Amino acid sequence: MAGARQRMATMDDYTCGVLAGDRAMLGRAITLIESAKDEHAGPAQQLLQRLLPHTGKAHRIGITGVPGVGKSTAIDQLGMNLVEQGHRVAVLAVDPTSTRSGGSILGDKTRMTRLSQSRAAFIRPSPTSGTLGGVARKTREAMALVEAAGFDVVIVETVGVGQSEVAVAGMVDFFLVLLLAGGGDDLQGIKRGIIEIADMIAITKADGDNVARALKAVAIYQGALSILTPVLADWMPPVLTISAQSNRGLDELWAKIMEHKERMTASGEFGARRGSQAVGWMRDLLQERLFAALQADAAVARRMAELEGEVRSGVRMPALAVGELVEMMGPRRPPSEGGIE
Ligand code: GDP
Repeated sequence: MAGARQRMATMDDYTCGVLAGDRAMLGRAITLIESAKDEHAGPAQQLLQRLLPHTGKAHRIGITGVPGVGKSTAIDQLGMNLVEQGHRVAVLAVDPTSTRSGGSILGDKTRMTRLSQSRAAFIRPSPTSGTLGGVARKTREAMALVEAAGFDVVIVETVGVGQSEVAVAGMVDFFLVLLLAGGGDDLQGIKRGIIEIADMIAITKADGDNVARALKAVAIYQGALSILTPVLADWMPPVLTISAQSNRGLDELWAKIMEHKERMTASGEFGARRGSQAVGWMRDLLQERLFAALQADAAVARRMAELEGEVRSGVRMPALAVGELVEMMGPRRPPSEGGIE
């Protein structure tokens, strides 16, 4: 939140500040793009457009796992290892629960104590308002900003609950699923179908008494993966163990991520994935804008509310309601332009 002492920043301040890697300015720029105020929407898009030529150079990694699996410990340690190797690491988050609670835990600086003190790192919690789609869009835009600010590794963290994982997988180059061994919930990921979008699985907390259980979990997941058709023909998602607490397995984990990048780049898959993600992003925006335009028309908005009432009470089929609303939009289009697909 902007303090009272802070003067208004101009578009040049934002652009130059972000490009110079100024973390305070970067934080303010992200606040600008996250803002729900109408008067911020124009400047936010203008800033993103200006910075566009400087985006796209980072390696984007998504990390998911249930609360307590060890995400923040792993990101803190992996991030520190990467910083030591000369990387600049940004951590963003998509936390769908934050939109209900108004507060975000993921990506919180207090959870990544060492990384948050590093000058080569930037940590930003999840946006806390809007729908999951809105939160995901803002995180995508924040990713563009941190890339323009020169961060070459972007980690996007999310919690292991349903749709947010699909949203994050749709904005990263590599999707890592963290799982706990044992506790009777092995194969937890398979039930939810999440390993189908995983590029790699890491069993966490493989230390002390937990090592044997972790290795057993590796065998179980490897077996499960072998019966699934891989998403990419030339990448079988590896399953490995890590102990973030004792910094074991994280170098191997990073080596696998690099191997994936090399192979996907060589096959053209890396660029293709980014391309289709960009188109997906555009379609999400288009959907959002079309819906907003619909609601901006007073007559349509009124009728939509009535129809929603009828659909809610079961007296009208949703498809019929949609048909009527589409009809209402129809006459404004010359017939030669055809309908909305
Ligand atoms: P998150 O909720 O997924 O971010 O999980 P945290 O990183 O906060 O970790 C949850 C708990 O597991 C904390 O008490 C950590 O200290 C512990 N933990 C995390 N990583 C490891 C590990 O590698 N080994 C062990 N033994 N404990 C760990």
